[in-house]
Formats: sequence, C-alpha cells, structure tokens
Amino acid sequence: MFRLPSGVLFSQIVATSRDVGATRSRKVKVGALSEVLTQLEPAEVEPVVAWLSGELRQGRIGIGWRTIADIPATPADVPSVTVSELDGTVTAVAGISGSGSAARRRELLADLFARTTADERDFLLRLLTGDLRQGALEGVMTDAIAAAADLPVEPVRRAFMLSGRLPATAVAAFDGGVDALTAFRLEVGRPVRPMLASPAESLTDAWTELGGDVSVEYKLDGARIQVHRNGDEVRIFTRTLREITGSVPELVELVAGLPCTSAVFDGETLALTDSGRPRPFQETMSRFGAESARDLLLHPYFFDCLHLDGVDLLDAPLEQRLEALERVAPQHRIPGLIRPDSDGAATHFDDALAAGHEGVMVKSLTAPYAAGRRGRAWQKVKPEHTLDLVVLGAEWGYGRRTGYLSNLHLGARDPDGGEPIMVGKTFKGLTDALLQWQTDEFPRHERSRDDHTVYLHPDLVVEIELDGVQVSTRYPGGLALRFARVLRYRPDKTAADADTIDAVRALLPG
Ligand code: ATP
Repeated sequence: MFRLPSGVLFSQIVATSRDVGATRSRKVKVGALSEVLTQLEPAEVEPVVAWLSGELRQGRIGIGWRTIADIPATPADVPSVTVSELDGTVTAVAGISGSGSAARRRELLADLFARTTADERDFLLRLLTGDLRQGALEGVMTDAIAAAADLPVEPVRRAFMLSGRLPATAVAAFDGGVDALTAFRLEVGRPVRPMLASPAESLTDAWTELGGDVSVEYKLDGARIQVHRNGDEVRIFTRTLREITGSVPELVELVAGLPCTSAVFDGETLALTDSGRPRPFQETMSRFGAESARDLLLHPYFFDCLHLDGVDLLDAPLEQRLEALERVAPQHRIPGLIRPDSDGAATHFDDALAAGHEGVMVKSLTAPYAAGRRGRAWQKVKPEHTLDLVVLGAEWGYGRRTGYLSNLHLGARDPDGGEPIMVGKTFKGLTDALLQWQTDEFPRHERSRDDHTVYLHPDLVVEIELDGVQVSTRYPGGLALRFARVLRYRPDKTAADADTIDAVRALLPG
C-alpha cells in the first residue's frame, strides 16, 4: 500500500525558496516563508531555516561540486524525501571522515539523489556545495520567523544580531518566545554582526544632523576586525564573522597583553609602509587568507568596545564605550576627536585625507551599538561617492583587451532578497592585472554565457567610484551610474553586504 511520508516534505522547502526568489514583493516573501515555518515540527525548524538561508544546520561539510555533481540518478517523478530524512542524511555525511570517506559520502548521497526530483536535486547540489547563497534573505527571514511564531519583530531581530545565526534564532522564537529571544546576550567569544554606517552628503551635514554631539574619527582603509578576549584566549573575526585568529598572531599577542580579563573590541586593521602610511587594501586583505603573507605586520586601530571585564556595553552610549576603550587600549585607538567644533572636525577630515585615509566617520556619542544595522548614528564622509556593487557578468574586451573579460555588468542589492538589480556597466579603472584576474577568476563563478558576455553567479563585490546617478530606462531599476570606474574588488564582502538599490537611488541629484 502507498504510505504517505510523515513530516514536511523537502519539496515544499524547495518550492518556497523558488517562490521567494521569484517575487520582488517583500510582503509576498515574508508570507511564503512564514507559511512554511508554521507547518514545521519543532525538530524541523533549525534545518529548514538554515536551508532557506542557503546553509546547512551542520555548518560547512566540505563537499565539493566535483564530488557529487556527476552522481548518476534518474529524477524521481513524485517527491518523497522528508525534511527530517534529509537532515539525518546530512548529519550522517558530515560525520564520515578518514580514508575512503569521499566514496562513502557519495554512496549515502547517491541513495538520496535517487529519490529526489530534478528541482530537489538542483537545490540540494547547491545547498551541499555552499552555492545557494541567500544571505540577502536575512531581513525577510527575521520578519517571517516573527510572523510564524506570532511575536514582535524587534526581539527576533535583536537575537539574530547578537547570535549571527538565523536557525538558532528561529528555534528560540518557536520554543521559548520573547523570553528565550531576550536571553541572547553578547557572549565573549561569539561574534556579533557589526554596526554599519550610512553615507553622508558632507561633513557639515553629518555634524549638523547629529547636533555636534559627535566623535569624528579617521575612516581607515583597512579591514574590519572584531576581537574577543576571554581570560588568556583571544579570537579574531572579520566583517563577515569569519574567524581569522590563526592568520593574525601579532594581533592576538597584542590583545592578550592588554590590561583586562575580558573584552570585545571593534576596529580596523591595516598594514603600514615604512613611513607609516596605509598600504593598499589588497595587501591588508592578503593577510586574512590561509597562506597569509606573514612579513606584512598588521596594526589594530580600535574604535569601539562592546564589553569590558564582565560588563556588556552594547546598550551603553558611544561616549561610555570610548571611555572603556581609552582605559584599556589608549595607544590602539583610532585617531579621533570627541565633540570637536565644526572647524576642528573639518581639520580632522583634511588630516585624514592627507595621511592617506578614506575620510572620516561621524558618530553620535549618545547612540548604543546597533549590531547589524546601517543607521544614521554612524555616518561616513568621503570625498568621492563610492558604491559596493555585485558583478553580474563581464563582456569580452576588444582592441587592446581582446581575449580578456572586461566590461563589467554591475548590480545593486535588492533589499528584499531578490536577484541584484543591474545599474550600469564599466571597464574604466581596470588595470592589466585586474583584467587578467577577471579572465582567470570569472569562469569559476559562471552561470551562463553567450557570444559577448559571461554571466556570473552574484558572488563578487566590487567597489565603484562614480560621479553620480541618473534616471534611465536602460536598466530595470530605472537608474544608471554616471562615470563609474572600478576602484577595487572587495573580497571581505559578500553579495549580502553590497549596496542596495535604495542606496544607489539616494545618490540621485536633488
Ligand atoms: P566601506 O565600503 O566604506 O568600507 P562598509 O560597507 O564596509 O563601508 P560602512 O558601514 O559603510 O561599511 O563603513 C564602515 C566601515 O568602515 C567599517 O566596516 C570599517 O571597516 C571601516 N572603518 C574605518 N574606520 C572606521 C571607524 N573609525 N569607525 C567605524 N568603521 C570604520
């Protein structure tokens, strides 16, 4: 007799993911996600929220595309794999190690693939290999969790910001409601999502908007670090919360020597030339890789303190957090002025540029640390407009650039988690070295191609300098960049960190 599988089917999750990707409407996305969440058994919540966010509950399990893409299987006609079966198989696969493990993993997965439909298999392949990047979905997912658990959105968002983990946030919301969500605290050793800044039109605008009650700090052109110290143990994380402790021993040693027992610092790190000027961003970033160039020493410049000696400071005003930083690491504070008058702020801005830095940050001294938020409490002031955009494709060059992937198609992030929205093209600013790098690297991110263009998965973020933005019917967002040129690639960012179409629109004149 035909027996109905018990529990939610994996095919429902695949269909939900497809529906969410197919609409631009935030409301429809939240509706689709919350509807599937309400149908779940408690044990299904964690894996499903992870999958819909493009992750596995078990973390990265180290399966390469090559290991599994060619597993032969005729697609099943009728979906039958349940969420709990799939989750169980992934746990089993993750637990296989030692010699012959690749073959044993393949075997387990082959059994599973034999029962999947074509759509399920496609989703699963991308999920297992880490190719299902849905980071931009975070905002809609927190709203969907709140709706499905019938809770206010704010505690859900806060729990996510503090934990950085949507599945754990969802489990807390469903199992323990607001009490469980508010139990998420800053935990020394576990990174929180960094507070972000909004662009300001000018220094005067930022200073005036915040009423002069500000800290004006150099905006260093390095890489963000979040440093956790608990007793003798130091751990260091990047902007995307990736741990890099092992690559940066000089920072670990320095923090271990500070006069405190526990602390969390937020800051920027940078390699310097012999004369003390910042080295190019790429050189700093090269220290974060597995084979890091150890001869370049990194220096930390802290600008915030989220915890000190047992006291959480996330909700304390910036002024108090800076006092904590001053007590414990005065020599490693980023150059900054507290409550400068407008002339003092302007001089600090000029000094920052003269020293080779990007500009300044203007921060409200009364604001708490809004983890994961891009708000007005921190405003960045730079002499030029820049945007971080996603590379959607590249056209083959002509003339001197024949044989190289050159003209880039640039996309802004859809704040509701849809596909990036194209806003322009450029090949300006591309050096010969970058052309070569693009030509070598892009095929690894290829989605499709035609005679002129290689289209890419939206993985790579590039920082673009531009003169402004204009209304245009050429691109789907109704906007086009003016005089865009490539500044550099941003390997520290993912598509989820790229600027949104709203940020592009904000650069329209008037
Ligand atoms: P950008 O692309 O300009 O580096 P971002 O998108 O990484 O910006 P924003 O919030 O826009 O992030 O700008 C803040 C970034 O600037 C931080 O992530 C940090 O790396 C860097 N930074 C440099 N100096 C400071 C500072 N004094 N305070 C805060 N952030 C700083």
